[in-house]
Amino acid sequence: MRLRNIPRAESVIEAHPVAIKDEISRKGKWGEEFGNERPIHIEIGMGKGRFLLNMAKLHPQVNYIGIERYSSVLLRALELYDTEEFCDLKNVRMICMDAVQIDDVFDKNEVSRIYLNFSDPWPKAKHARRRLTSREFLARYEQIIPKGGQLEFKTDNTELFNFSLEEVRESSWELSAYTYNLHNHEKMNEGNVMTEYEEKFSKQGNQINKMIAVRK
Ligand code: SAM
Repeated sequence: MRLRNIPRAESVIEAHPVAIKDEISRKGKWGEEFGNERPIHIEIGMGKGRFLLNMAKLHPQVNYIGIERYSSVLLRALELYDTEEFCDLKNVRMICMDAVQIDDVFDKNEVSRIYLNFSDPWPKAKHARRRLTSREFLARYEQIIPKGGQLEFKTDNTELFNFSLEEVRESSWELSAYTYNLHNHEKMNEGNVMTEYEEKFSKQGNQINKMIAVRK
């Protein structure tokens, strides 16, 4: 997702208390930012923030951090946060950054769960290492998540999903569950919170794939 450049995005992000600007200096100190030591769950590539904000509302005992590369997209997530439905949430922060730097921002074992929803497929083989489920990214996630920590991934793109299953099998993650039809899988769909893309693609008749991997 890349919205056209929105000039005011940078200034809104700069002024917004939920948008973190000095993320690298927070490494190892995210508990101080939230004022508690509750588990931290992050969503990488959160887009317009619907999943992150609904999860934060449903699970006040968890701290959520959304990561998005483009300021024009993060702006939309901040605007959603500012609505009556979400503006009282204390357990949400957002960062405008490329996830390639994730281990500069979180310390060893600082994150308990990572969500990847409808990540960009990067279909050309020469770009495989840019996929957020590539072995290169899985190795970065290992730097910030403890043994037993979870990675959850949803996509309607079956090619990307099959690639991701293979990458997990080749890595220090163990596949704990997966399905090619999430919305028909009673157990895995329980408590499912839809993302913007999930709603759009499932309305078009696409099946949604989901995997859960656990750090070995
Ligand atoms: N997760 C949302 C959903 O399911 O509706 C948005 C999906 S959209 C296809 C993927 C999002 O991930 C885009 O907003 C894109 O900018 C962001 N993204 C892709 N690669 C990223 C990276 N390396 N670091 C941070 N964000 C990234």
